[in-house]
Amino acid sequence: MNGKLIILGCGAAGGSPLITNRWVDCDPGEPKNRRMRCSVAVVTDQSTLIVDTGPDFLQQFNREDLSVPEGVIYTHEHSDHVSGIDELRFLQRITKRKFNIYSNRKTIDNLACRYDYMFQDRDNGFYPAVCDAHELDYGSDYTIGDIAFTTYELDHTTLSSVGLRFGNLGYSVDFKRLDDAAIQTLKGVETWVADCAGYNNPDNPVHADLSEIYRVNEQIGAKEVILTHMPPTMDYQTLRSELPEGYKPAYDGMQLDIRWP
Ligand SMILES: [Zn+2]
Repeated sequence: MNGKLIILGCGAAGGSPLITNRWVDCDPGEPKNRRMRCSVAVVTDQSTLIVDTGPDFLQQFNREDLSVPEGVIYTHEHSDHVSGIDELRFLQRITKRKFNIYSNRKTIDNLACRYDYMFQDRDNGFYPAVCDAHELDYGSDYTIGDIAFTTYELDHTTLSSVGLRFGNLGYSVDFKRLDDAAIQTLKGVETWVADCAGYNNPDNPVHADLSEIYRVNEQIGAKEVILTHMPPTMDYQTLRSELPEGYKPAYDGMQLDIRWP
């Protein structure tokens, strides 16, 4: 079976340009430097699955003209990955059913606290609950619609994020380091989409830098490594000329093939 992963956004928490049009090291003349917050859609002939709904989710969803998704996976609780959750109410009005969301237990508990109105009926049902939460375990296989994936744990220093493998493609945001179990799960992917917000700063406390991505991919062996979650210190054309063969910066709207065995 085939599908595709669409990069809805490849920007870091502040997007690019940052508010007040600060481009930092990015060339404002390069359209691929305009980055919304980090999110992807996985699309097959039958199904659509969203990974993270940040503050740009409405614009991203409409830009790609996506179909109503079967569900949303949340990688972790940070606002740049979740704060578009309110849009799910408008999808629920189309489907007339509760919307399935998936994540680890800590993220679900955190979302249910911060966005309690999305999880509980309010005002005698005048504002019905929107989300039906499902817990994901690490190292397990799941299928949503016809989209199969395997989970693994990502170490984001202060918490753990849900890593995903879809067939021959791995998707890993946000993380500082990968443990052996994560590397074993990703081993053999052809394409690895990886958080590289640390870029050239190995001292970034919560995000991987390039040297960590190179080190880990020696074990994973992906032919194609796509960098994402990029702050505006990472200029698209500079990366294109600096990165070794097989490594590419993502851009919003980029599409990558997925093949399931
Ligand atoms: Zn994060």
